Amino acid sequence: MTPAAAALPRKVFDGFGYSVRSVSGFAEPKSAAEIAGWFQFAKENGLTVAMRGSGRSYGDAAMNGGGLVLDTRGMRRVLSWDPTTGIADVEPGVTIEDLWRNFLKDGYWPAVVPGTMFPTLGGIASMNVHGKNCFKVGPWGDHILDGELVAPDGNTYRVSREENADLFRAAIGGFGMLGAWSRLRIKLKRVHSGRLRVKAHYCRDLKEQFAWFEEATKTADYCVSWVDCIAGGSGLGRGQPHSAVYLSEGEDKGPNLDPAAQDLPGSILGVPRGLVGTILGKLNHNLGMRLLNVGKNLASRFGSRAAFLQGHVAFNFLLDYVPTYRDAYRPHGFVQYQPFVPRDAAPEVFANILRLTQARGVPSYLGVMKRHRPDEFLLSHGLDGYSLALDFPVTPANRAVLWKTLHEVSDMVCEAGGRFYPAKDAVLRPDHLQRSLGQERLARFATLRDMVDPDRILRTELAARLGLSV
Ligand SMILES: Cc1cc2nc3c(=O)[nH]c(=O)nc-3n(C[C@H](O)[C@H](O)[C@H](O)COP(=O)(O)OP(=O)(O)OC[C@H]3O[C@@H](n4cnc5c(N)ncnc54)[C@H](O)[C@@H]3O)c2cc1C
Repeated sequence: MTPAAAALPRKVFDGFGYSVRSVSGFAEPKSAAEIAGWFQFAKENGLTVAMRGSGRSYGDAAMNGGGLVLDTRGMRRVLSWDPTTGIADVEPGVTIEDLWRNFLKDGYWPAVVPGTMFPTLGGIASMNVHGKNCFKVGPWGDHILDGELVAPDGNTYRVSREENADLFRAAIGGFGMLGAWSRLRIKLKRVHSGRLRVKAHYCRDLKEQFAWFEEATKTADYCVSWVDCIAGGSGLGRGQPHSAVYLSEGEDKGPNLDPAAQDLPGSILGVPRGLVGTILGKLNHNLGMRLLNVGKNLASRFGSRAAFLQGHVAFNFLLDYVPTYRDAYRPHGFVQYQPFVPRDAAPEVFANILRLTQARGVPSYLGVMKRHRPDEFLLSHGLDGYSLALDFPVTPANRAVLWKTLHEVSDMVCEAGGRFYPAKDAVLRPDHLQRSLGQERLARFATLRDMVDPDRILRTELAARLGLSV
């Protein structure tokens, strides 16, 4: 390592699931020119570079042990905003929270949001994030009009559907391997209320879950379901779906578009939010989670079916209610794993996943099901089908069997023509990525890498593990 590289400040980075950790040099660029300067520095000093936003990817997607990590959260300006069109020009460190706090009062909500409000637009574009409305409006990329990518070859590329279109379609969902987003122009969704009309339902098994989605997605704006992944037998895949619709103009007589009316409550069932994680920690074993799932199942089964009004924040950012929930998985953390399976194959594949993980003694503690549609992006995880996001605790005792099981599950997903979501990954092998995306797409991606990053400066641990950084 050169003296200049050795002199860089160093930091421990981990994934949101705490199951991976490494030490890298780091810097916090404040402009496109500074990012370009760091690429040049890396080249001169034999370093690789990973971009990082809020670090909300569960695994190793924004890590680069031994190299340099560029944290772009300091590039957080809204450069322009047009409330007549809902179009904003933003820097990559702007977060989902910034978007609704700034623009809800003008009647706009981000067209797509993940289950947390903290991700940055740079991280969102590079993972092509999806929401509970993906079946209807597609992933985030569908709402990005254009952007600028600072590339390690010394160029800044303007990308859109008209200009450098191949690069645009590959960099969205391109794992941060085709340059650093320094600016993005996005279109938000017009809303007439700060609230949604929400309805809960109950499904006795996986078959009912699929039937519910097929019906609910015909009319709802959002659909999502909690799946009890521990129950077996006739209750396999039981759970509670929710649907929500936007309100029309004049329908809401409540606090309406005031962002202050959106904040998350300070306590849940009387327990301060900050303590819920500690309580969950006490239940963080197979028996504790079985009890928790049974309780939630009963509450879902006998709870009210009446529609109710709920703020966008409360509906969408469920996990932000419990900021310390991931602490329950300390010290070894957890992995999240989200396969996407074509519609016809999904019922059988999801049932087999639940059965296999239960039989191996590594059931998922949380399951979330969504409906998706295909999109135009090169390495997209989007398809006409369903995804099942699963959380698995990691311990020294279960690690080997968990990885082996998830590799077998990944084989099943590949055989069914499915895909995987890298923002949630810590376990996939390169062959899974190759089989799911196909050699032709990966070859096109490598050609674009040759153009923008001929010296292979960009690297993340995820990309290296999956063979994408070569
Ligand atoms: C509680 C929770 C719920 C979630 N729910 C969902 C969900 O419902 N749907 C969903 O799709 N995702 C979901 N996610 C995943 C999350 O949306 C993605 O991981 C997102 O990419 C995180 O953004 P970030 O700013 O934290 O990026 P990071 O995790 O820091 O980085 C993600 C990727 O983007 C790259 N990157 C970051 N900044 C830049 C930049 N400026 N230029 C180029 N590349 C860059 C990184 O190299 C990395 O590859 C959830 C995560 C959490 C923790």
